[in-house]
Amino acid sequence: MTRYIFVAGGVMSGVGKGVATASIGKILQGKGFAVSALKIDPYVNVDAGTMNPLEHGEVFVTDDGTECDQDVGNYERFLNRDFGTVNYLTTGRVYQSVIARERNLEYKGKCVEVVPHIPLEVIDRIKRVGQKDKADFVLIEIGGTVGEYQNLLFLEAARMMKHTFPQQVLFVLVSYLPVPAIIGEMKTKPTQTAVRTLNATGIQPDIILARSEVLVDKPRKKKISVFCDVDEKDVISAPDVDFIYKIPLNFEKEGLGDRILEKFGIKKKSHDMAEWKALMRAIGRVKKTVKIAIVGKYFETGDFVLSDVYISVIEAIKHASWENRVKPEITWLSAEKYEKSPDAVQELKQYDGVIVPGGFGNRGVEGKIRAIEFCRKAKIPYLGLCFGLQLAVIEFARHVCGLKSAISTEFVSGKQNQKIDAVIDVMPDQQALLKEKRYGGTMRLGAYPCRVQKGTLAFRAYGKTMISERHRHRYELNNTYRALLEKKGMVMSGINPERDLVEIIELKNHPFFVGVQFHPEFKSRPLSPHPLFREFIKAAKKG
Ligand code: GLN
Repeated sequence: MTRYIFVAGGVMSGVGKGVATASIGKILQGKGFAVSALKIDPYVNVDAGTMNPLEHGEVFVTDDGTECDQDVGNYERFLNRDFGTVNYLTTGRVYQSVIARERNLEYKGKCVEVVPHIPLEVIDRIKRVGQKDKADFVLIEIGGTVGEYQNLLFLEAARMMKHTFPQQVLFVLVSYLPVPAIIGEMKTKPTQTAVRTLNATGIQPDIILARSEVLVDKPRKKKISVFCDVDEKDVISAPDVDFIYKIPLNFEKEGLGDRILEKFGIKKKSHDMAEWKALMRAIGRVKKTVKIAIVGKYFETGDFVLSDVYISVIEAIKHASWENRVKPEITWLSAEKYEKSPDAVQELKQYDGVIVPGGFGNRGVEGKIRAIEFCRKAKIPYLGLCFGLQLAVIEFARHVCGLKSAISTEFVSGKQNQKIDAVIDVMPDQQALLKEKRYGGTMRLGAYPCRVQKGTLAFRAYGKTMISERHRHRYELNNTYRALLEKKGMVMSGINPERDLVEIIELKNHPFFVGVQFHPEFKSRPLSPHPLFREFIKAAKKG
């Protein structure tokens, strides 16, 4: 029998619902259960692929090519398993399939209504996750915050499920308890209000995860218990932590796993997270630091800096650093400043390693190229991720091969008729899609095989010749220029065997200079750091 645990957020967004969901999953997995998860995002977009990262954060990509929310990345990292399209839902996806069914007469002449047909479709999708993954538990994270209009139909689906299978459904509210500096006391009222609002949708939380800067003390637990109508034992402290992987262990200290089992009437099970605990201990012992710079552009929004945009890159750096027994110190550097003042690039000298992550469009490109040139010449370990490979190829073509007009066709408008060397170019199939403005879900997406050439740095990292990595891009290294690039010393160390596309490049006579057309960061997990990140950090550590 599959059990369903719904997780919703109260008071405000950004309090770590995704990580809380992943952590509950981790605890149950640690008790020997098969766990799956579903992220529901209330937006109308069919997937996250068409959204600006500044608005939405990172677009995470699964093996099957789903462009989804970064929380699916959290689920993969915590549960150490792959997810796919069934594990991600949006309002757009729900309506798309309901409308398609209506057009196919599948509702047999009925009037198709927002309620119940939309929640029923949601319930179908939730059940499908359990069936596909043969899960004992499915965690369903409802995006947004309780009280907003957008997620109402998903809450209605949850309510209907609880009504139909009361023994199989549990409701967790992740709420925020502020400690305003001016008052100096933790306040429970916003949470009380959030619970009342949730009650208005017909749902009573079974468990409240109390997110706050600090542990929730006894008097506050009591207050939440009385006013939110939950047992005191069901108010679980979720204080801020220095790294998120500690959260499942914190939840366990509060007895969350057993409490969940008790509520479902399942016997207690012993808990085994030995490997996870060992990792946390090892991290705690690390003293030495490595300084890693990420040169990108999607950082600033008003007065604030967003790191969410590159969350998988950050996590991959951490995993690899811990494996190398160092602590990463990550700095965000905006590429645009190297365009305004070229000398600013000298600041890269202070770093042990530099990453240029994925990106789209013109802005900041020349600055990134300047940063890459500096890393190549100053022998600073460099890892280029997708865009980071493409720009490294452009840099090399311009400054080593003498192709002054080397560029990617992504940056030139069709009208331009000056001579260019399109060392990065769009493939004919992609060109056809662009012409028809078919942008959504049409990039080269998901897992593709790659053959790694023996005797290369990449081979040393992977230790095997056939690998599979996840992609998300339209442009590729143009094979017309391959021979020239190789002649001048660029090593093509990974090739897609089906289409003969260059997937990994590297340079000799450099401590570490690697560019990859794929996104290795999507496959890095705390218990299995990505081999390329591992070697990059190893090189950075030596520097
Ligand atoms: N803009 C580039 C492309 O579409 C790179 C994409 C990326 O870095 N993910 O090919």
